[in-house]
Amino acid sequence: MRTVYVNGEYLPENEAKISIFDRGFLMADGVYEVTSVLDGKLIDFAGHAARLARSLDALDMPHPTVMPELIDIHRALVRMNGIEEGMIYLQITRGAPGDRDFAFPDPETTTPTVVLFTQNKPGLAASPAAQKGIRVISIADQRWARRDIKTVQLLYPSMGKMMAKAAGVDDAWMVEDGMVTEGTSNNAYIVKGNTIITRHLGSEILHGITRAAVLRFAREAQMQVEERSFSIAEAQGADEAFITSASTFVMPVVEVDGVAVGAGVPGALARRLREIYLEESRKVAV
Ligand code: PMP
Repeated sequence: MRTVYVNGEYLPENEAKISIFDRGFLMADGVYEVTSVLDGKLIDFAGHAARLARSLDALDMPHPTVMPELIDIHRALVRMNGIEEGMIYLQITRGAPGDRDFAFPDPETTTPTVVLFTQNKPGLAASPAAQKGIRVISIADQRWARRDIKTVQLLYPSMGKMMAKAAGVDDAWMVEDGMVTEGTSNNAYIVKGNTIITRHLGSEILHGITRAAVLRFAREAQMQVEERSFSIAEAQGADEAFITSASTFVMPVVEVDGVAVGAGVPGALARRLREIYLEESRKVAV
């Protein structure tokens, strides 16, 4: 049984409790982060902590007093649960005001709810999916307009995963005004020659922490990077495609809406970027 963290306490998972009035539960009024663990250490922790603060600020949510200790809580959970490879999920909600009301509660009397738990995933880095690549379909992007805030409002991405499953593929890329925004839980990329193309930052996509690191490593490795939107047709005609996220790192995409991308196998550039990302991130993991 896992040991989890809830509002200042480390508890067995079946003893951790949240109020039925919690605004995360009633209104999806909460934000989250997922940090991966390799070799028992946190990957890109500083980036996730910084984005968490931005998400809280964007929603006018008070920073919980425990903010400066989050790294220690992450490490304590890794240790207590013996995680070598896996993820730490963290969620902060606006708290439980004791009744249901659309108006935000007074931050003096209602303090944020803070929950963290581990997900043990041995073999996360050596994922067989990375050898084979994944297949995606395109779906309409029907999420709200502030996708740059990492809220727990994940119903549409969840429906998108189900649409992919029903189509017999692995994931979905979302399309708005004819252009790909991102994957259901990852950023989307195509490759043409030595150029990596991925959507520019804005409120239409989540600013992936893995995206930032991967683009930095790509530039350092003399690859060209173009931050602009692309269509499904352009992806189908690309040499390679891939996604990035904290839990998949760099994952090759080999098919888009039934059309093979490039040779229909993981591309050389995506494979190399995955290796670089894993190697460099492990070096600076905390
Ligand atoms: N876009 C969306 C919609 C996501 O949910 C995620 C992962 N949570 C990402 C992109 C990738 O972000 P990161 O690299 O920070 O995990």
